[in-house]
Amino acid sequence: MTSMDAILQAQLDQRQQQFLYRHRTNVASGCDSVLQVEGKSLVNFCSNDYLGLASHPDIAAALKAGVDQYGTGSGASHLISGHSNAHHQLEEQLAEFTGRPRALLFSTGYMANLGLINALVNRRDLVLEDQLNHASLLDGGHLSRADYKRYKHNNMQQLDYLLEQSNASRKLIVTDGVFSMDGDVAPLAEMSALAAQHNGWLMVDDAHGIGVLGATGGGIVEQQGLTMEQVPILMGTLSKSFGTFGAFVAGSEALIETLIQFARTYIYTTALPPAIACASSASLQLVRNQHWRREKLHNLIGQFRNGAEQIGLRLMDSNTPIQPILINDDQLVSTVNQQLRDKGFMVGAIRPPTVPAGTGRLRITLSANHSDEQIDQLLEALDSCL
Ligand SMILES: *Cc1c(COP(=O)(O)O)cnc(C)c1O
Repeated sequence: MTSMDAILQAQLDQRQQQFLYRHRTNVASGCDSVLQVEGKSLVNFCSNDYLGLASHPDIAAALKAGVDQYGTGSGASHLISGHSNAHHQLEEQLAEFTGRPRALLFSTGYMANLGLINALVNRRDLVLEDQLNHASLLDGGHLSRADYKRYKHNNMQQLDYLLEQSNASRKLIVTDGVFSMDGDVAPLAEMSALAAQHNGWLMVDDAHGIGVLGATGGGIVEQQGLTMEQVPILMGTLSKSFGTFGAFVAGSEALIETLIQFARTYIYTTALPPAIACASSASLQLVRNQHWRREKLHNLIGQFRNGAEQIGLRLMDSNTPIQPILINDDQLVSTVNQQLRDKGFMVGAIRPPTVPAGTGRLRITLSANHSDEQIDQLLEALDSCL
């Protein structure tokens, strides 16, 4: 063993001893309500495919037609020759969907967040983030070289105090719309009032809300009735409720042009395959027109929460398809997860350092593709494991 490998192996051994070792599962089927894993059928309660669109035939057909028209790769970045009509059309559709002048596509949500924060702030500026923000937002803050502080989860008093303390010329406030490990939402009206009062800029990552929340799937800003003036920077992903891949930022002309000029994760990377943009356009149609998917999801969430309460599970304060069940002991999370697998259910097993020590949980996510029976069966299995 080389000295590098010896050092790395010691670190890996330590992680194993802490029961924090992460494993991957090989899935033999596509993302649907039932997954094929090692010859077994498992009901899928861990995807972010909230509207059940990842396996929709219309979207698959649009992807295939896109490949016939554009081939497989975009071949270059957006600023060279990678920006196709398909990308451009999708951007216009996303702008219309969000009711904003413009939208800009990124290859992933992770890259959108890194690029956004770093295009907007620099040394001597201020970035304030919720401590439960997604890793990509936290990493964006670290990379920015700005004065970077985290406030306690949804703690508006502390946010107010930190804004008050700073005399930076640019103050960027960054939050998840729906928090990815807890399923609760940010108090955006209050945040936008604080932003206005202290001359701050509010940025919302709505990866889990877009498509799911709001009357037309416009996400948390639609649900909470907020204008672009209140939330000037809106980021959404296409990899979750849209069932495809990629992400976008929607906002003013000046914001989008700033990103095209200054966001390094936009400039120095290859554009998404155009066929993926074709698929996302088809998906957007379904997101907008098939409201029954949101209604069904909402009903399933109610059914799950009622049932979980009846059997005394530790639910969190969430009305979204992210329904974590807290487990008293972090080490138990893996054991319960394995028991559920043996009973035919796949859920997320979330442990530190993804969440704070002592708050290990099963992360159960619901989809419009689930049936009432599948929810009841999951509750029965949880009851027998916990
Ligand atoms: C999933 C997620 C991202 C990352 O999006 P990708 O397209 O998967 O890179 C960013 N922010 C939040 C809140 C997310 O849940």
